[in-house]
Amino acid sequence: PARATEIRDLIHDVPDYPHPPIVFRDITPLLADGAALADVTDAFAALVEADGGVDVVAGMEARGFLLGAPLATRLGVGFVPLRKAGKLPPPVEREDYELEYGHASIELRRGTLAPGARVLVVDDVLATGGTAQAAARLVERSGATVVALAFLLELAGLGGRERLADHTVETLLRVE
Ligand code: IMP
Repeated sequence: PARATEIRDLIHDVPDYPHPPIVFRDITPLLADGAALADVTDAFAALVEADGGVDVVAGMEARGFLLGAPLATRLGVGFVPLRKAGKLPPPVEREDYELEYGHASIELRRGTLAPGARVLVVDDVLATGGTAQAAARLVERSGATVVALAFLLELAGLGGRERLADHTVETLLRVE
C-alpha cells in the first residue's frame, strides 16, 4: 500500500510474548487507526481483483475475522469464519494440524461454502504456514477453490511461503 511505512509502524513488536524468545507482532494499533485499516482493506481488495475476484472471504479466528470481514464488505461478498475447535454448532468439518508445541484444530460449518466457490483465505500473520495450510485443506474439502491466501504480515524465513507453494500467497508486508 501507499502508506506501507506508516502501516508497518502500526504493527508493534512485543519481545518475549507470549514467552521468550518470541517477538509477537501486535496489529491492534493498526486496527484502531481508521485510515490505516481502510488502506489495508483497499490493498487486499486490489490484490483480490488482480487474482480475478472471489465469491467469498474466509477468515481465520480471530484476527483473520477483523481483517476479513471489512474486506468482504468492500468486495461485496460474504464472509465465512474458520473457527477454533468447539466454537461452531454442528455439523462441522474439522481439520487438525501441528503447532510448534502440540496441535490444534479448526472448523468450518458444513454447507457454508458452496462447491466451486472461489475463496480468499485471510489471516494477519504468516509464520510457519501450518495454520493457513489447514485452512486451505478445510476449504478444499467443501469442493471450493482457494484463489489465494492473503496476510497482512509475512514473517520471512519460517518456511510459510514454501509450505504454501501449491497456492497463491499474497502478503502486504514482509519482515525478516
Ligand atoms: P503459523 O501457523 O505458524 O503460520 O502461524 C500463524 C498463526 O499464528 C496465525 O493465525 C497468526 O495469527 C498467529 N501468529 C503467529 N505469530 C504471530 C504474531 O507474531 N502475531 C500475531 N499472530 C501470530
